[in-house]
Amino acid sequence: MRNALAIGRIFGIEVQLDYSWFIIFVLVAWSLAVGYFPQGYPDWPVALYWGLGLATSLLFFGSVLAHELAHSLVARRSGTPVRNIRLFIFGGVAQITEEPKSARDEFRFTIAGPLTSLAIGLCFGAIWWATRRQNSPVTALAQWLSFVNFMLAGFNMIPGFPLDGGRVFRSIVWAITKDLRRATQLAAMIGRTVAFLFILAGVLLVFRGYLINGLWLAFIGWFLENAANQSWRQFTLQELLQGHTVSEVLTTDWPQVSPDLPLDRLVEEHVLTSLRRCLPVIEDGRLKGVITVHNLREVPRADWSRTPVAQVMIPFDRVRTIAPEAELLTALQLMTREDINQLPVVTDQSLVGMLARDKILAFIRTRAELGL
Ligand SMILES: [Zn+2]
Repeated sequence: MRNALAIGRIFGIEVQLDYSWFIIFVLVAWSLAVGYFPQGYPDWPVALYWGLGLATSLLFFGSVLAHELAHSLVARRSGTPVRNIRLFIFGGVAQITEEPKSARDEFRFTIAGPLTSLAIGLCFGAIWWATRRQNSPVTALAQWLSFVNFMLAGFNMIPGFPLDGGRVFRSIVWAITKDLRRATQLAAMIGRTVAFLFILAGVLLVFRGYLINGLWLAFIGWFLENAANQSWRQFTLQELLQGHTVSEVLTTDWPQVSPDLPLDRLVEEHVLTSLRRCLPVIEDGRLKGVITVHNLREVPRADWSRTPVAQVMIPFDRVRTIAPEAELLTALQLMTREDINQLPVVTDQSLVGMLARDKILAFIRTRAELGL
């Protein structure tokens, strides 16, 4: 996955750190170490402020992770697969790849997150309460984490889809109307309304002189607006591609090359004539790998005539492939995620055809225009 660092697995679910997350981690540690802790608890050594700042920031990260894990584990128990958890600048997302199977499932795995944050908030609140007369580092840490976890629960319950609150709302409407499409449309509309209210409030604050708070609020609004739009697009896309498989869109007249073909002939006879940027390499009817324009550029032009395709191709075991009976949506998600524009379609190791991203997009556009 691009722009993210996989840091390991918890209960079999991969946890990724988006690079933007490091900004937040440092920002939280820094603002605690130089602002919040020294103000509330003066006369402590500077090293203690920083140690405490880093520890608190780490526990904050743990709190967000626990929230997302709660979503993921409850979702998985009801049979909805979870691809991974990604932590980024605004917190986290559990990437649940399918739409939930029922309103009850969605309600349950959504509410699990805020409830977990609430429970963590209560735990830290209890620690703070028990140590409040000691004025110790533990008191300071527990107080901040308690507050932040309550905020986390509260913010996520804002009824703007796709926030947890918006999902809870959708699942309730879905349960009443039995119509997922209408429920999603309504939830996304409310999500956008809430987003605009945030932006409006932000602008008003800026005019009243609260520049930073106002900008921050407007920024959250902008983020929510984007998220609501994107969720709705994702939903309609899913609806459009539902039940369609790779075999409907694959291309069979794609040029194929043999592994011992020299690169100069590959370029002249296949790449420049077909303008395909990725060609399957076939030997004895089996897919041996693929060769891309990118691979070609790694070899100096003077060596093209004596370099065979086999020497620079991506070998089969490192090539992403897909089966002809796979869902088109799965294929598109894979291509988007891995940033690839064509996939060899194979059964066992024999090539059935090639799947091109622009053809899927044309499939979507045409069906959408025809209102199918
Ligand atoms: Zn959540």
